[in-house]
Amino acid sequence: MTTTTHILGYPRIGEKRELKFTLEKYWRGEIGQSELKQLGSELRNRNWNVQADANLSFATAGDFAWYDHVLTTTLLLGHVPKRHAGGSEEEKAFPDLDTLFRVGRGQSQTQIQSQKQPTCCGGKHGSESAQDGAAASDMTKWFNTNYHYIVPEFSKDDSFDVSWPQLFDEVNEAIQAGHKVKPVLLGPLSYLYLGKEVEEGFDRLSLLPRLLTAYQAILAKLSKLGVEWVQIDEPILALELDNQWVDSFKLAYQVIQGDVKLLLTTYFDSVTDTLDKIVDLPINGLHIDLAAAPQQLDEVVNKLPEDWVLSAGAINGRNVWRADLAAQLELLQPVKDKLGDKLWIASSCSLLHSPVDLELEETLSEEVKSWFAFAKQKVTEVSLLGAALDGDQNAILACETYSQPIVARKSATHVNKPQVQARINTITKALAERTAPYAERAAHQSEVLGLPLLPTTTVGSFPQTGEIRVQRSAYRTGKLSEAEYNTALKGHIADAVKRQEALDLDVLVHGEAERNDMVEYFAENLAGFQTTKFGWVQSYGSRCVKPAIVVADIEREKPMTVEWSTYAQSLTSKQMKGMLTGPVTILCWTFPREDISRKEITNQLAFALRDEVSDLQDAGINIIQIDEPAIREGLPLKKRDHAEYLEWAVDAFKISAASAKPETQIHTHMCYSEFNEIIDSVAALDADVITIETSRSNMELLKAFEEFNYPNAIGPGVYDIHSPNIPSEEWIVDLLKKAAEKIPAERLWANPDCGLKTRNWVETEAALTNLVSATKALRKEWESAEA
Ligand code: GLN
Ligand code: ZN
Repeated sequence: MTTTTHILGYPRIGEKRELKFTLEKYWRGEIGQSELKQLGSELRNRNWNVQADANLSFATAGDFAWYDHVLTTTLLLGHVPKRHAGGSEEEKAFPDLDTLFRVGRGQSQTQIQSQKQPTCCGGKHGSESAQDGAAASDMTKWFNTNYHYIVPEFSKDDSFDVSWPQLFDEVNEAIQAGHKVKPVLLGPLSYLYLGKEVEEGFDRLSLLPRLLTAYQAILAKLSKLGVEWVQIDEPILALELDNQWVDSFKLAYQVIQGDVKLLLTTYFDSVTDTLDKIVDLPINGLHIDLAAAPQQLDEVVNKLPEDWVLSAGAINGRNVWRADLAAQLELLQPVKDKLGDKLWIASSCSLLHSPVDLELEETLSEEVKSWFAFAKQKVTEVSLLGAALDGDQNAILACETYSQPIVARKSATHVNKPQVQARINTITKALAERTAPYAERAAHQSEVLGLPLLPTTTVGSFPQTGEIRVQRSAYRTGKLSEAEYNTALKGHIADAVKRQEALDLDVLVHGEAERNDMVEYFAENLAGFQTTKFGWVQSYGSRCVKPAIVVADIEREKPMTVEWSTYAQSLTSKQMKGMLTGPVTILCWTFPREDISRKEITNQLAFALRDEVSDLQDAGINIIQIDEPAIREGLPLKKRDHAEYLEWAVDAFKISAASAKPETQIHTHMCYSEFNEIIDSVAALDADVITIETSRSNMELLKAFEEFNYPNAIGPGVYDIHSPNIPSEEWIVDLLKKAAEKIPAERLWANPDCGLKTRNWVETEAALTNLVSATKALRKEWESAEA
């Protein structure tokens, strides 16, 4: 007998993002459904062949999704929100792909522009087509990843009815192609938990019995197709669940057991909190994530029921690093000795979160390439580790050889740089503190900056016009020289400054025309990062991101933003705000190293930014914004781990900012609306000014700041930049008045709720005109009231 090997899922976007491009063609009406479906089938078959070629024991099916796998589950369960179900009985009974896209994208699905935008921080923005009465369902982050799922909507009278054949069709398709199939299904409790009630006064858990009937039907159908094992994902088991939820597992699995063998899969954190309950379930095996939580292995092995399999998620499914197979072999050998064939080897989670194929990266150096493994390579790792555990001598040797680059990397001084580490060792509490407390700084700043009451500003980026994009791509492909590109960028900066002066804003920005992305720009300018050409991972729907990779200790070799900011400042007598991305956000939106902690990487970034702050201020920039939109999403899954994370995250921000003199004003920006949990950490950042998102909650959010007695200045976003709607002057006046009820006017700023790069100039100028006139009117009112 050989060790069973499998993965929890494979990326569906295609190695060159084929799914993205084909979906978008379909949405634009350029191709029909049959062409789209043809590509889906091609992608699935390709993915199964990767698994078969590597000799995995199973080909995983049911991991393909046209938009999102939670949305697929919604369709599978016949649980489409009523507003999307379609008019005719026929449409209701037989939803079609367009129904699915309507739930994900809103009604006007032929317009690609109307595709939902998540917030920059992955929150829950409504669709731009919300006005037509069939707004897309909400979208939110999938646990602590940068993937977003479509949130299921629950009402009291919901019923479930297996009507969407995709899963069964795809299982059949794989069987026809000759594969041994293991379907994957999102479990009933996770499906319920990840959704939300859209009706007051009921608990979605009360829908469980009805939902289970649908799951029974699904599993019976799979069994009829000849399926032996089903992978049933219950990732919520890695959270800190209320008893009510934990206890529901027993009932649920008693009801749905029987037709097929169930492998209960958990990932992203440890399950030892609920292990005693898990081992009581009538199932046939458990999968645990050993990349995220290796410490749970012993306990799980000890408590594992005798007839269960243990699927060891040994190969990290959500990072780009080559596995140290020799070390894994050593770790798992005793488990193999104990469990024999009941030990399975797997990826830690679905490979959905990994880029697809390292082989496409032709420009990486051989050394760097030998450090990485993308999805396709991870499949091979799973297989090789399985073979080595079976005692195959060639495989054991191959593991040894395969691990060498990763082992060599540990002592490479171009990776672990003594000078960077020496600096990290200088960190003290004092290093992270500004030299004066806020009140003193505020007094200095008001003298130096000469700003009016209720100063106006923007959050950083201005419209990324077609022209900018064309120039950037010409530069990247060598059609524009660096000098020509820089001249072009300066042109955009000059244009942005001119427009802001005409608008009469108080604190200007240079507009970020040089940045394709707020993290990638810094990754490209700092030593220690590697960028890739095809390292895309799905973010939501057809949208993909290509995070940079931290490969070595991070160093700033030269100033990164000073030239742009000082050029912009030279064009105006108003204050120009420098613009940096904070250390925590850079960490959260890149692939981190695994050989040092997230904290250490963030501290290295903090020093690089600290030096940039010094250089900006020495070059005459008096206001510097350090964006941290990702600080909240970096929170660990378990609440008990929050405090530790927040402590080092806050410290890293402060280390970045603390080289600022008292008279230099530090801003930060966060764009989401749930601050309650982290308000004390937000205050602890001690930024002089924070700009936040508040417009859509009608300034409700400011309550958290008011109740906390937030001490520093706040710029509550007065309009939603994700919408093309132009806010009126009255609307803005009204919001600012509401804000002033909660925050003293002397500490209030006026600004949009995020950067403007996704808007066009017409919308931008119209909105900002109203913003400026609203503040002028209010200033008059408030100043005369005082007099
Ligand atoms: N300064 C950035 C911008 O304006 C901030 C973006 C964000 O919050 N994600 O684009
Ligand atoms: Zn923002």
